[in-house]
Amino acid sequence: MASRITDASIEAMLTREKAHFLQRNPKSRTLAEDSSKHWLRGVPMHWMADWETPFPLFIEKASGVDLTDADGNSYIDFCLGDTGAMFGHSPKALAETLRQASFDGFTTMLPSPDAAVVGRLLAERFGLPMWQVTATASDANRAVLRWCRAITGRKKILVFNGCYHGAVDETFVTLADGKEVADPALIGEPRDITQFTKVVEFNDIPALEAALAPGDVACVLAEPLMTNIGMVLPDEGFHDALRQITRRTGTLLVMDETHCMSSGPGGYSGAHGLEPDAIVLGKPIAGGVPAAVYGFSEETAGRIRKYLEHREPGRSGIGTTLSGSKLQMALMRTMLETYFTREAFAPLIELARRLEKGIANVIIKYGAPWHVVRVGARVEFMCSPDRPRNGGEAGRIIHRPIDMAIHHYLLNRGVVITPFHNMMLICPATSEAHVESLITGLDQCLAELV
Ligand code: PMP
Repeated sequence: MASRITDASIEAMLTREKAHFLQRNPKSRTLAEDSSKHWLRGVPMHWMADWETPFPLFIEKASGVDLTDADGNSYIDFCLGDTGAMFGHSPKALAETLRQASFDGFTTMLPSPDAAVVGRLLAERFGLPMWQVTATASDANRAVLRWCRAITGRKKILVFNGCYHGAVDETFVTLADGKEVADPALIGEPRDITQFTKVVEFNDIPALEAALAPGDVACVLAEPLMTNIGMVLPDEGFHDALRQITRRTGTLLVMDETHCMSSGPGGYSGAHGLEPDAIVLGKPIAGGVPAAVYGFSEETAGRIRKYLEHREPGRSGIGTTLSGSKLQMALMRTMLETYFTREAFAPLIELARRLEKGIANVIIKYGAPWHVVRVGARVEFMCSPDRPRNGGEAGRIIHRPIDMAIHHYLLNRGVVITPFHNMMLICPATSEAHVESLITGLDQCLAELV
């Protein structure tokens, strides 16, 4: 907890800003009251209520980096749908494709000609030759875990403490006093999932070595850096060690790049020369319309083909009807061609550097015991002086009341950052002036808090 920011100043800011929020948003309030009659927790997806504002803002329009709520308030959006709208809301090229696609049919249970192009582009951009489509990144992670178990004949997986890979039950295992326990957030899970999941801390090479040594783990499922518990960077040499140990123990290595796609046109793996056996890409791959993909190395794909030769014919096993649809293919083609390019990424990364520097300056100006990190077009500040090296440390740093006070302060001044921690993304519609607004907002917020 920040030494010069007192609980009393946080509390005072939060109370005042909540009152201001109530006063600014009468229409959202009425919509929230109406919605609560028929939607669980008053929202179409229950976690939308976790923003912890007095009621959710109802968004009327999202375009580029601009949000307009039901009361006509406008916002600069740095959350960008938590990466789903990483290239801005309704990016122009995508809107045009969508308009055209709306006359050509959405789903046929057969491939469209775009499939050949999208497959090639995925291979070129992300360096793996063989791909499949799902509707969400959660689905893609579930599918990859199944393939990995099927071809290795091993039941267990390994994840890092504090990870998030979507609604994938067996990844909801955390460390408590060094022991694996099912995350209390799990809903309706009948199995003891600690039987199937090993958990170690990120960057802990000896623990990883020990967990994989028995040779009973099908795959390690990891983000290349942790992005869902603040931002935790890999230590120098961690990825080399992870690759060597997984290879030595016959464990497949799966990189979940759903968020780290903001690192560059080939994700973090492409930018840093990682060599995973499989990659998962989600949210922004079709610009925020439901689609995700997973890709395999040639060797892993060969093992899958062999497995399928001996599999009893029957139901698909890994499926869902709307996956690989004509619509998804058209949208992914546009996103890959237009936005997953070096040229498109360069200005985003440049502006993200500027945001990082601006926040660092504000932190220094007020002597706030905070730090800021950036990877590609993604920036995060955390309210602690030291960078966490793993999920356990990151979890202990997160201080909900101070995050809430800052988020409310910024929202009331027309700036949105990611609700569950302090992440900010730069998209092609983000301007220097937008970045300055965020830096100024944080400056004024700290002036009051410190
Ligand atoms: N992987 C990672 C790293 C994620 O952060 C998320 C969602 N935040 C997912 C997978 C799941 O994505 P979705 O909710 O779109 O299935």
